[in-house]
Amino acid sequence: MPSATPFSTSVGASIGPAGFRRSFHLLCPGPVNVDPRVAQALTAFAFGHREEEFEALLDVLRERIVQVATLDPKRYTSVVLTGSGTAANESVLASAPGLGRAVVVLTNGEFGERLARISTVHNPGTVVVEHAWAQPLDLAKVEETLAIHRPSLVAMVHHETSSGLLNPVAAVGALARKYGAQLFVDGVSSFSADPIDLDAAGVTFMSTSSGKAIGSFPGLSMVIGTHEAFRGLGHRPTRSHYLDLHRFYEFAEIHRQTPNTPAVPLMLALNEALGLALEEGVRERMQRLQGLAHRVRARARELGLATLLEASVPQSSVLTSILLPDDVDFEAFRQALRVHGFVIYGGKGPFSGKMFQVSTIGEVDGDLIDAFFEVVREAIAECRVGRRSVA
Ligand SMILES: *Cc1c(COP(=O)(O)O)cnc(C)c1O
Repeated sequence: MPSATPFSTSVGASIGPAGFRRSFHLLCPGPVNVDPRVAQALTAFAFGHREEEFEALLDVLRERIVQVATLDPKRYTSVVLTGSGTAANESVLASAPGLGRAVVVLTNGEFGERLARISTVHNPGTVVVEHAWAQPLDLAKVEETLAIHRPSLVAMVHHETSSGLLNPVAAVGALARKYGAQLFVDGVSSFSADPIDLDAAGVTFMSTSSGKAIGSFPGLSMVIGTHEAFRGLGHRPTRSHYLDLHRFYEFAEIHRQTPNTPAVPLMLALNEALGLALEEGVRERMQRLQGLAHRVRARARELGLATLLEASVPQSSVLTSILLPDDVDFEAFRQALRVHGFVIYGGKGPFSGKMFQVSTIGEVDGDLIDAFFEVVREAIAECRVGRRSVA
C-alpha cells in the first residue's frame, strides 16, 4: 500500500493537500522561507537559455554575487552552477589542486568531513587534519601539517553548520600563504550572513549556494574568486567534466553562457534574492541576522536551555544549537513542533538526539522567534519522558 500523500496521484488532477499542511515555518539552515518577490521571480519570465535575455541575466547574477561578497568587481568574479552547494565544493576540489600534490582538509564537524570525503575521491594525496566536532581548530597542528605535506590547496569550512561554530579563515589564510598553498573556503552556509574579507584573508575560492542565508530556493551554487585564480585553473587538469570549474569560468567569460542547460527559473529567483540583499544593504542585513540569532539565544536562556557552544567561541548569525534536556526525546519534540508548523533540525553525529538547531535565515522576524519559543516551552513540558505515559 502506498503511504498517505498530500499530492493527488490521479492523472489530470491538480496537486492539492489532503489533510497535510501546505507550508511550514522553516527554522532549519536551508531550505528557507523565501520573500514573496523571490517566489514571483521564479515564474516571471519565459526565455531560452541560449538567448540574449539569459546572457544578460547571467552577467547581472555574477556581478551581484561579487557585490554581496563586498569584493572589488575588477579583480573578483563568480560562476554559477546548477546543483546544490556540494556541486560547487566538488567543482573546486576536482579542479583546483595540482595533480599529484597534497590537499589538506581541516575538519571539526559534518561539513568539514564531507569536504574530506569529496577531496579523497579526486585527490589521492588528501591529508585530513581532524578535530572533534565543534572543537576550535588547532592552528599549531594545522601549521605542522602544512610544513610536512606542502599542499597545493587547503580546504576548510567557514561556518560549520553542524554546530554553529565559525572557523578562523584569516588565520588559516596566513598559514596557507606562508606555505605557498591556495585556500578554499566552504562558505555555503555563511555567505551574506557572516562576513569574511576574502581578499584580506587570502582566500582563493569560496563556495556558496542559493538556498541558505541569501534566501532563495535550493538548486544553484556559486564559486567566487579572482579572475587570476579562475584563469590559473586552465593549467591544472580537472578530474571532472561536468564540474570542471575552469570550463564554467570560460563559458561565462567568453560566451556569457553555462556549459550545460542551467536552471533558469532558479537563477531568476536568486537574482531577486541578491537584489533584495543589496537593497537592504549587506552590512545592515548581517546586523539584522545577528540580532535575530541573539534573540534566539536570549529566549533559550529564559527557558533555562543551554547552548552547545560556549559564549566565548565565535558563533554564526545563521543558527544556534540548543541542548535538549536529558529527559526530552528529540523525535517527540520535533513532531510536537511540526504540529504547530515549525521545522527544526536535530544534531548529527555525536550530537544526535542531544540538541536541536534554530536557524533564523530567510523570512523570519522577532515575533516569529517569540512565538516559536512559546511552542518550544509547551513542547518540552509535553515531551518529558514519562509524562506522556502518565496522561
Ligand atoms: C548545506 C551545506 C553544504 C552543502 O549542502 P547541499 O545539500 O549540497 O546544499 C555544504 N557545506 C556547508 C557548510 C553547508 O551548510
